[in-house]
Amino acid sequence: RLSKRLEMIAEQVPAGSRLADIGSDHALLPSYLAERGTIVRAVAGEVNPGPFEAAGKQVRSSGLDHIIDVRRGDGLEVIAPGEVDVITIAGMGGALIASILEAGQAKLDGVSRLVLQPNVGESLVRAWLLEHGWTLIGERIVEEDDKIYEILTAVAPEPGDTAYTRVYEPLLFSEETTADRDVLLKMGPYLTREASPVWVKKWRSELEKLEKICAALSQSDLEASKQKEREFRREMNRIEEVL
Ligand code: SAM
Repeated sequence: RLSKRLEMIAEQVPAGSRLADIGSDHALLPSYLAERGTIVRAVAGEVNPGPFEAAGKQVRSSGLDHIIDVRRGDGLEVIAPGEVDVITIAGMGGALIASILEAGQAKLDGVSRLVLQPNVGESLVRAWLLEHGWTLIGERIVEEDDKIYEILTAVAPEPGDTAYTRVYEPLLFSEETTADRDVLLKMGPYLTREASPVWVKKWRSELEKLEKICAALSQSDLEASKQKEREFRREMNRIEEVL
């Protein structure tokens, strides 16, 4: 059985896809999708020797080596241009996911969908997608073992596409929220609209963390600390306005 998190990622992969799962660890996601017949081919990429070995074992022992090719390498260097339609990158920080996409841009030609699950730093992933013309088409949020995960699905840039206008702007100019671009990149345009209990819980707990930091900063007489506290307070106000 897959974790709820991986299951939700799997749901975002369309039937008939050729998949690359980057940072595949034990290749659980491609194995699950191959067993169900969802994907026709997969590359499981791993940069580290331990997980690379584990992925190979998993794929061989489940007899899926005719579908899944386990390859060792950094980020998208394990795939050839045009080899896959969908790329999943899950379970790492947003900064790393964005840097893998940035370094691998030449491999994204022909890729129609990205399914990304940053553990932290979601805003860096949304900002990368926006800057490179990828349209965010959906966001999911899930709580499992006291952790909250976000899953971002994006489709490839199209000529003349204005992802920003369609996805972000309607919220920026709506009467319901006073969100600005940066706070929406953090909190997620779809998740903000949906305002699910898990998402509210996530941001309430972020606010609590920021409150603790501010309380600690307020003990100090240093101008730099006061400055930092003012910044955090402004940030908290912006989050509260959206919640
Ligand atoms: N994707 C799986 C999941 O979501 O359950 C595994 C997540 S695991 C926490 C992150 C994996 O990414 C590790 O196995 C690590 O070796 C791999 N990794 C980290 N940086 C990578 C990179 N630049 N290229 C390929 N794999 C990488």
